[in-house]
Amino acid sequence: MANGFKGSWTKKFFKEVKSSRLYGDFYYNQELTSHGVFGVHQKRLFGKEGGCPCGEQLETIEHILLKCKIWGKERDDWPKSWLQKDISDLVFYSPFKKGSIDILKKLMSSRLIS
Ligand SMILES: [Zn+2]
Repeated sequence: MANGFKGSWTKKFFKEVKSSRLYGDFYYNQELTSHGVFGVHQKRLFGKEGGCPCGEQLETIEHILLKCKIWGKERDDWPKSWLQKDISDLVFYSPFKKGSIDILKKLMSSRLIS
């Protein structure tokens, strides 16, 4: 993920919010703003390890949703073409939204108990 990408992504998101009812889901809001339980953000804020439990050094949203093997099973019924796309485009695609919220919910409940 290039520097500055996150900022423009968030800006794109809030622009979208004004003209749609996309906003409002807690999990999806976390995903779009890159806040919350994700490793990269926690490292910046708290100096914690930013790695993913699968061994990947940087736990980004893109890694979790598109690449992480921990969530491979959840991705089984996703169209393969999604994995070729840019995540900043995918997040505005409602079938992707549904699938990614599924992963995020599981991720967050696993973080809360561990
Ligand atoms: Zn991972």
